[in-house]
Amino acid sequence: MADQDFSTLTNDNIVAFIGDIFKRRGADSYLGEEVTMSEHMLQGAQLAEEAGASDAIIAAALLHDIGHYTNEFPEDALAQGIDNHHDEAGARVLEKFFPGIVTDCVRHHVAAKRYLCATDPDYFGRLSPASVHTLGLQGGPMSAEEVAVFGANPNLEAILQVRIWDDQGKVAGKVTPDFDYYAPLLQRVVDGPESPLSRRTRSNGQEMLETKP
Ligand code: FE
Repeated sequence: MADQDFSTLTNDNIVAFIGDIFKRRGADSYLGEEVTMSEHMLQGAQLAEEAGASDAIIAAALLHDIGHYTNEFPEDALAQGIDNHHDEAGARVLEKFFPGIVTDCVRHHVAAKRYLCATDPDYFGRLSPASVHTLGLQGGPMSAEEVAVFGANPNLEAILQVRIWDDQGKVAGKVTPDFDYYAPLLQRVVDGPESPLSRRTRSNGQEMLETKP
């Protein structure tokens, strides 16, 4: 795929665009962990697939940390996300192309750690040292009020599950499929009935039908 024009992202080139980031930046270290960024995200996807998760949830596990690379995205996609943390920034660049359940899992994966620390007595003990360190910077365990608000998210179960795979996807040397293995799955999610572009296409089609006699 030489000379792909990524200046405008569409549902036809977003998967290749993300694959390009994995290939060029995937070897970056995952701060304080013993795996690279791509190893970490691919381990998350593998855990999701092994658990029998849906394509959308596997996509969320694969892409949950893509917000570390929002500086790779064209400026129009970046405009809103640039000043945000990597969870919010990742959700902002994905939400044009991926269903809400995917972007919810990405957007809330840091908050999910704070939620689980407040609600699951065993969860904290399973965090890596780097993740314990960042917990403090991220606000520590949620308050009861925060737990109540966060717990009302209709996608809570998926959000928490992706977080747990995030925590588990830090095993040095673990063999996983590569990005290309997941590319057709990502394309199915982008093209699926729940994706924002599909919805827009469908509603435009309906409007056309309705205005014609
Ligand atoms: Fe992560």
